[in-house]
Amino acid sequence: MLERTLASLDGRGYAAYKHLRGTHDLGGMDLVVDHVQVDPYAPPSRMRLVVDARDAALPADLVADRLGRIAVSDFLTRRFAAAITEHFSARAGRGPAAHGDRRSHHRRGARPDAQKPPVTIGTPGQEILERSSVLLAPDRVEARIEVALPAAGRRIRGREAAELLLDVLPELGRSALFHGNLDAEARTALAAHVALLRDQDALRTALRAAGLVAFVGDGAVLPRSSGASDLPLTSGAVAFRSPDSLRVSFDLPSGRAVTGMGVPEGITVVVGGGYHGKSTLLRALERGVYPHIAGDGREWVVTRPDAVSIRAEDGRAVTGVDISPFIGNLPSGTDTRHFTTTNASGSTSQAANLMEAVDSGAGALLIDEDTSATNFMIRDERMRLLVPAAKEPITPFHDRIRPLWRDRGVPTVLVAGGSGAFFALADHVIAMDSYVPYDVTQRAHEIAAAAAGGTTAEAPSSPDTAFPATAFPTTQPGRVPDPAGLQPGHKQPRARGLGSIQFGRQDIDVSHLAQLVDPAQTEAIARILDRLAREADGRRTLDELVDRIEAVLDENGLDALSTYRGHPGHLARPRRHEILAAVNRHRGLRLV
Ligand code: ADP
Ligand code: MG
Repeated sequence: MLERTLASLDGRGYAAYKHLRGTHDLGGMDLVVDHVQVDPYAPPSRMRLVVDARDAALPADLVADRLGRIAVSDFLTRRFAAAITEHFSARAGRGPAAHGDRRSHHRRGARPDAQKPPVTIGTPGQEILERSSVLLAPDRVEARIEVALPAAGRRIRGREAAELLLDVLPELGRSALFHGNLDAEARTALAAHVALLRDQDALRTALRAAGLVAFVGDGAVLPRSSGASDLPLTSGAVAFRSPDSLRVSFDLPSGRAVTGMGVPEGITVVVGGGYHGKSTLLRALERGVYPHIAGDGREWVVTRPDAVSIRAEDGRAVTGVDISPFIGNLPSGTDTRHFTTTNASGSTSQAANLMEAVDSGAGALLIDEDTSATNFMIRDERMRLLVPAAKEPITPFHDRIRPLWRDRGVPTVLVAGGSGAFFALADHVIAMDSYVPYDVTQRAHEIAAAAAGGTTAEAPSSPDTAFPATAFPTTQPGRVPDPAGLQPGHKQPRARGLGSIQFGRQDIDVSHLAQLVDPAQTEAIARILDRLAREADGRRTLDELVDRIEAVLDENGLDALSTYRGHPGHLARPRRHEILAAVNRHRGLRLV
């Protein structure tokens, strides 16, 4: 039937492809064509390969729980993506003659691997995320794919389309979606993938009770192969080795036991010479809020799920945020309890980022000196003498780091290789030396005590004694967005890659969110913003609005973010912190 339709479409104008819409039986699976592109240059057509759950026969123990389903879906997505690559690179390898058409003629000279395959299913990176690419429902397994339907100029290439839809897609589906078609090795890999995610998740859940912010397993490989790649560094990487005093072990559900460094609650300061691996450690902790695939090197770098990395971000917009714990007395007389600007400075942007993170429920802060505003972090003695406190709007983070932990229960991991100012405030000081961590807490406390006029033998009894008086102010009442400011106009918000969201006529810059890791997460945030616009009522706070959306996602999955039935697009679940961070960077945000 589909074959006859395609034969009749051959040579006709491209728009006639719309006749493909609907469900087609491919023998053993259905092809559902949800949306057909209007021309060859439009975004590709959205289709689903649907397999009956009984035929897919995924082992019940693997898909019994939510985590298992996330892991299996991730595994099948990767397998499908690999099958696509394999199929099309083998084809390209046969050379342009194999195509024998004008398009391949044009492409002569292009490297085969540079050609984009006509079928995509999204490209998972090193993290295992809940994503929409492969749906596991009680009755069916669905691969959500995008297909560029073949054209010669603006004419339909019916025979090529027939090969693609009738031969290639079923072949891809058979190799990726049926458990019965997996060889022994792949079945073992699937079970191991599920066990790995369950283990990592159990460890992440155990951190809080163990009084830890993060865990870094012995043997972990933290450095990446380059600044532009998230793959592990393969040559010359020094494997992680925990210091004796911070070593902890966990027994995990699979029976596996892991040993490594526990990063304790409270204040942990990471010191060490330049280039000794401080930022690399912190970046691994940032990413540790997400699970990682086997072979990544960071499988056992596990951080509290609500840890938020904070940096300076000058130029960002800020809307009605209480930054008064850090900034007051501005020369302009601006009220910093409701601070608004279209162009924040380094220090005010970092203060806003921090306060927003704390308000979004951050369970820990991760801060690197490399990306911080110095005047936000510290003010030294000489400067305190020269510029009296009354003339200085900034209360540096140095003065707030302990109250933030003591009064708000928010711990911090701080990389500070350039200043000893935090020694007295730290519960733990870790020195990175040639990529190996050492516990230097005692020595750092001695140095701090000596500098404060005590003797080197006399360390402060508790870092809290360094700042007994200042209390961290309590939370400001929730911020209620004005619905008018959230309307995107007639065009739905869309992600433009990882770091930007097109929203009405202005883009939202999310490129500095270190823990936004996948363009599919950005796309999901774009959809969430659209939903926020519809749910905002001038009464609910941003927090409440995001709570509601998260409850819907928990209940109905990412498909709930689709405005129509069928292929929802390639989405991955973002954290609430990144959702709120995107809203907070929206330049049209207004509060009631
Ligand atoms: P710092 O922040 O202390 O100045 P970085 O973390 O930026 O240092 O690391 C400096 C360089 O060392 C980077 O190129 C990084 O990839 C590399 N590096 C970090 N950790 C390791 C490691 N464990 N093994 C090998 N190279 C590493
Ligand atoms: Mg650094």
